[in-house]
Amino acid sequence: DATMGNGNDTLLLSVLCGKNGHVYAFDIQEQALCNTRRKLQSANAPANYTLILRSHTDMDQYAAPGTVSCITFNLGYLPGGDHTKATHAISSITALSKSLLLLKKGGLISLCMISLCIYSGGDSGFEERDAVLNWLKQLDPRQYLVIRSDYYNRPNNPPIPVLIIRQ
Ligand code: SAM
Repeated sequence: DATMGNGNDTLLLSVLCGKNGHVYAFDIQEQALCNTRRKLQSANAPANYTLILRSHTDMDQYAAPGTVSCITFNLGYLPGGDHTKATHAISSITALSKSLLLLKKGGLISLCMISLCIYSGGDSGFEERDAVLNWLKQLDPRQYLVIRSDYYNRPNNPPIPVLIIRQ
């Protein structure tokens, strides 16, 4: 979804799954789920998705360990939404840790982080970005391949895209 926060991840996964899979999408903001629902409906996405108004830390209540092919995280705040409802280091790392357990062998986690929450009152700053980067660094390299990428020519703390592949 890069940084737009408009449900692109959910749409892509829904189309990729088709009739054979199911997509669970979490957000704690109704507006984000509304945007996503509108996007999927207008693209005629298959009816293989469930939009859930809950924290992504609850994702393990919706899938069994080792059964999920792909998990995407679009961290930060919803553009045009409530910036006080941005993601935070502790809950994001809890959700990421749970997603490692849910992932199949060969499965993929994609993660995009907005590194600076300018509108959150200045208290978050780089806290989430730094905490997530530290967490990624200590993952066992025999179990997970972690690829960090960057928006090379974009100024002002651009988002950081990351892939984790369970080997
Ligand atoms: N989920 C949308 C998407 O992927 O298109 C919006 C992405 S936006 C960059 C970040 C979103 O994280 C905000 O909409 C915010 O409400 C949501 N959020 C914050 N804390 C969360 C949590 N603990 N669990 C799930 N979503 C959370």
